[in-house]
Amino acid sequence: MSRYFSVKYNSLTPYVPGEQPKDMRYIKLNTNESPFPPSPKALEKAAEAAKRLMLYSDPECTELTRVAAQQLDVDPEEILFTNGSDEALNFAFMAFCDASHPAVFPDITYGFYPVFAELNHVPYRQIPLSEDFTISLEDYLAVNSTVFIANPNAPTGLALGLDAIERILQSNPDNVVVIDEAYVDFGGESALPLIHKYDNLLVIQTFSKSRSMAGARLGFAAGCKELIRDLKTIQYATNPYNVNSMTMAAGIGALEDDAYFRKNCLAVMENREWTRTALQELDFTVLDSVSNFLFAKHSQVSGGDLYRKLKEKGVLVRHFAKPRLSDYIRITVGSKEQMEVFLEKVKEILEEIP
Ligand code: PMP
Repeated sequence: MSRYFSVKYNSLTPYVPGEQPKDMRYIKLNTNESPFPPSPKALEKAAEAAKRLMLYSDPECTELTRVAAQQLDVDPEEILFTNGSDEALNFAFMAFCDASHPAVFPDITYGFYPVFAELNHVPYRQIPLSEDFTISLEDYLAVNSTVFIANPNAPTGLALGLDAIERILQSNPDNVVVIDEAYVDFGGESALPLIHKYDNLLVIQTFSKSRSMAGARLGFAAGCKELIRDLKTIQYATNPYNVNSMTMAAGIGALEDDAYFRKNCLAVMENREWTRTALQELDFTVLDSVSNFLFAKHSQVSGGDLYRKLKEKGVLVRHFAKPRLSDYIRITVGSKEQMEVFLEKVKEILEEIP
């Protein structure tokens, strides 16, 4: 740290993204990206938009917002597009948390939540997940705090039902409840329709996973007009041109190619179930994921050993060296071919056990 670094950030520990190594070609099952390329329509529209890069991007994302609102059956004023859903989450911490609205979220969840809380000097409380890694509804009733829940949760892949989310919304009427649906398209149930019923609900989604656009950085927040107006105040106070023109155009192409989106989500879900069964046959315990990753542990090999040995064999998965998580690995569900190689390497590792 330089001697000029603001004391405001003395204790800030930044988020550690999954590794993106350049030393060799890995089968990359560590950052929950899609194994499929973006829709050809998205690529075509992005290339067209590149010709106008001398102009600033549209700070209102007018056309993308119109297309998305129509598809999602919401009003354009109920959506705000952001630079990845990480930005929407950061905006929510900035807009809806303070000393009298501290943040609460599970102790095991997306690792960026505590970082955003620290960055914005928001007091926060982490609520332990149950023994079986589920979120206990009772823990979130009348908490008098801004609630952040990833649904499905990461790295577990487990989801809460909409009935539970409604109870949380009803019992916290004076606080915003943020439902982070980064992985909802792989079998979860979206809370989006509930934004018309609850003015304290903010739903956040991303184009990074199910729409194969992680590198383009596109996400959005949806909620009642007042909440979205608050987020826009933050947007215009930080970076009005937060979504670049190529990404905006690609986003429209991705939304218009609904068949491609559905086909890819289905393929990931099929590969997930196939991989889950194969892992269980190899004596793995696998959580009941409804996302594009599996969280699994083996009876005889530790999570750390599995991670290291798989990496040596050219397959990257994610390991969290933390209490309760260190026995597990998180495996992004890739193409069938990638999952076949992954399982082949797992079998080799198991055969090497003395
Ligand atoms: N929420 C969750 C639960 C995530 O796992 C991620 C991706 N790591 C994000 C949000 C952010 O995704 P992005 O910024 O790419 O939209």
